[in-house]
Amino acid sequence: MSLINITNIKRDFVLGNEIIHVLKGIDLTINKGEYVALMGPSGSGKSTLMNLLGCLDTPTSGQYILNGKDVSQMSDDNLAEIRNKEIGFVFQTFNLLPRTTALNNVALPMIYAGYSKSERSARAEEVLTQVGLKDRMDHEPNQLSGGQRQRVAVARALVNRPSIILADEPTGNLDSKTSVEIMNLFNEIHANGNTVILVTHEEDIAAYAHRIIRLRDGLVESDKPNK
Ligand code: ADP
Ligand code: MG
Repeated sequence: MSLINITNIKRDFVLGNEIIHVLKGIDLTINKGEYVALMGPSGSGKSTLMNLLGCLDTPTSGQYILNGKDVSQMSDDNLAEIRNKEIGFVFQTFNLLPRTTALNNVALPMIYAGYSKSERSARAEEVLTQVGLKDRMDHEPNQLSGGQRQRVAVARALVNRPSIILADEPTGNLDSKTSVEIMNLFNEIHANGNTVILVTHEEDIAAYAHRIIRLRDGLVESDKPNK
């Protein structure tokens, strides 16, 4: 059984009295353990597709089966539960809470998952150690470099042991040396058994993935193995 199974997904947005057809019928199967880069011009629908994959949004029509469950038209509450259990999301702009320590940022998704404070602290410390930030746990985001902030965001994405890591332009705000460090981290995460799907504009970042899917104008233009 595939982890992600998408059939004829469409996503429209209403803007004033206009309907914009952003995703125009996407079919996609992604198996457990794959390492996928999603590419395509700005405005081609990459983030819209990632938001659907990550259960942050639902399609206008079409079917999304995630891990055997039809999540296409699930209620917000049920989606939130799936998101918390299955998905770790990393954003270009890190999206950390300011004035809150790295440890608390990472532990946050565990509150929603119902863990006790001591369980949360222990697990958050464990994942921060995994991303190389054990000695920065008590720092707030503004005391960390861009690369360190993104590591905190990756740790937060991993904290509930999701099966899928989704990253929308995770190196978009980082210099090339720091980007390589973050990509090495995604390699490790993939080697640990996670399914990794990332959006990037850069061919040398996409080169880390084992499969490259290119979108154009709301449709899959190409889908090829990379290694
Ligand atoms: P990409 O990530 O590939 O640059 P997006 O998925 O962000 O592209 O956006 C694709 C198109 O959909 C763009 O034209 C964008 O303006 C439009 N779009 C995305 N989200 C919305 C929204 N919530 N409301 C209206 N239009 C949107
Ligand atoms: Mg985008």
